[in-house]
Amino acid sequence: MTELEDLYQEVILDHYRSPRNHRVLEDASHRAEGYNPLCGDRLTVYLKVESGVIVDVTFEGSGCAISQASASVMTSSLKGKTRAEAEDLFERFRSLVTGEGDQADAMELGELAALSGVSRFPTRVKCATLAWHSALAALGQEGNAVFTED
Ligand code: ZN
Repeated sequence: MTELEDLYQEVILDHYRSPRNHRVLEDASHRAEGYNPLCGDRLTVYLKVESGVIVDVTFEGSGCAISQASASVMTSSLKGKTRAEAEDLFERFRSLVTGEGDQADAMELGELAALSGVSRFPTRVKCATLAWHSALAALGQEGNAVFTED
């Protein structure tokens, strides 16, 4: 294992053990439930959007370390972003975890880059992207959205 992989492993375990923004957001303007039947991961993502900007984002749920850590890192990354910026960030994150991204881009993604090791385990990509798909599904419509990986 390289030093970088060690560091990434530490970031994932830290977010899994002490997830950030792991709570119900009472005054959320958008929310979505996400389910990944392959692994059994379940998430609810809550967002509060004001004047087109994500001012708060939280999640709750249960599942594997990858899905929980990814959701935690995502909530930290999305605050202060517009919907377009969130979509752009997801595209870059998605190409990283599917192995299509390059290392230079990974450096700009900060803690999100810690999930890059997922690209070696194709079946875990859905664990890593579940929170993102749920957040974007929530942003795409008013009220409740449900997202299921298939
Ligand atoms: Zn999972």
